[in-house]
Amino acid sequence: MSRAEALIDLSALESNVRHLIAIANAKGLAVVKADAYGHGLLPVAQRAVSAGASWLGTALLEESLKLRDGGIKVPILAWLTPLSEDFESALQKQIDLAIPSLDHLTAIEKAAERTSIKPRIHLEVDTGMTRGGALSEWRALLKSISDLVKRGKIEVIGIWSHFARADEPGHPFNEEQLSNFKFRVKEAEELGIRPKILHLSNSAATLIDQKSHFDLVRMGIAMYGLSPDVNNLGESAKLGLKPVMSLRARLQLVKEVPAGAQVGYGGTAVTKDATKVGIVAMGYADGVPRNADNRAGVLVGNRKAPILGRVSMDQFVVDLGNDSIARTGDWAYLIGSEGGDGYTADAWGRACGTINYEIVTRIGPRVPRVHIN
Ligand SMILES: *Cc1c(COP(=O)(O)O)cnc(C)c1O
Repeated sequence: MSRAEALIDLSALESNVRHLIAIANAKGLAVVKADAYGHGLLPVAQRAVSAGASWLGTALLEESLKLRDGGIKVPILAWLTPLSEDFESALQKQIDLAIPSLDHLTAIEKAAERTSIKPRIHLEVDTGMTRGGALSEWRALLKSISDLVKRGKIEVIGIWSHFARADEPGHPFNEEQLSNFKFRVKEAEELGIRPKILHLSNSAATLIDQKSHFDLVRMGIAMYGLSPDVNNLGESAKLGLKPVMSLRARLQLVKEVPAGAQVGYGGTAVTKDATKVGIVAMGYADGVPRNADNRAGVLVGNRKAPILGRVSMDQFVVDLGNDSIARTGDWAYLIGSEGGDGYTADAWGRACGTINYEIVTRIGPRVPRVHIN
C-alpha cells in the first residue's frame, strides 16, 4: 500500500503514439528524456516502440545508454552531450550523436579512432532558437564533415533543428526557421553531404504544421497526452490526446477545523467557515511546487478539494468542505481521477506559474511509477 504513486496508463501512451504518427505522415521519434517526462524510461520506451515509434531520443547520453542496456534495438539519438561524455560507449552501444560544433566533431572522431567504429551523426543547426546547434560555425562544420564523409569516416544520418515558437500557430518566426532549415540542408547537399533523414518538428509542429514534418517527427509532451500549450492549441482532448499520468497520494489525516484557523507555514490561508481539511501525503520534496495556489488541489471521491496555504516538504492541506465524507487513508488525486473530473497537469501549471511539462518532469524519485494497461 503506497503513500503516493504516479499511475502510468500505457494504453493511453500507445493511443497517443499511433495518433501522432498517423497525422505526421512521417516516422516518429519518441522523446523519452528526463525519465520519459517523469513517466518511467524503459516501460514508456518499450511501449512507444511497440506502438510504432521507429526511433527513440534522449537529451543525455546516459539516458540513451540505459535504453540500450534495457534491450531496446531501434535507433537512438542523444542530443545533449558535453565534451566530457563517454563517446566510446556511445559508439559501442550504437547511439546516434548530435553534432552542434567542431569541438564535438573532434571529440567524436577521437572516440571513433580508439574504437574503430564509424560514428552515426545528426548535424544540428541553429535556425533561430539560439540554443543548441551550429550557427557561425555551420559552414566550417560542413566542410569538415564533407571531408570525413568522403574518407568514409563518418555516417551522416540526419540534419536537424528545433523550433522556438511552434506552439504559436501562424507565427511568422516558424516560417523563418523552416526556410532557414531548408537553406542549411541545401548548403550541406552542395558539399556532398546526403543525410538519410531530416527532422525539425516537436509535438506542437507535429500537431499543427504538416510542412515541417520531413522524414521524422520528435514526439514529446503530446505523446504523454498533454497539450504543448493549452492557451494556443487547446486542451489535450481537443488534440486527440489522452493524458498518460495520474498522480495520487493518501490522506494522512482528515479533521474538522473551526472558522478562522490559519493553515500552514506563514498562515497564508485562513478558513472562512468551519470545515474539514485533508492532509495530503505529498509535498515539494516529491515535486509538488511550494508556490501552488488554490487553483490546484486534489479530487477525493468525486469532489474537488482546493489547496489551503503553502505546500510543505512532504505534505499539504486541502479544503474538503464541511460536509465531506472523505476519510483518513482515502486516495487524493492530484492529477486525473478514477473517473470523475479531476485536476490536470495544466491546472497545476496555472496554479504554480509554470507549464504542464515542468509539473510532470519534476515528480520526484520518492514517488513510485506504476505502469498499468
Ligand atoms: C524535448 C525535445 C523535444 C520534444 O519537445 P515537445 O515540446 O515535448 O514535443 C523535441 N526535440 C528536442 C531537441 C527536444 O529537446
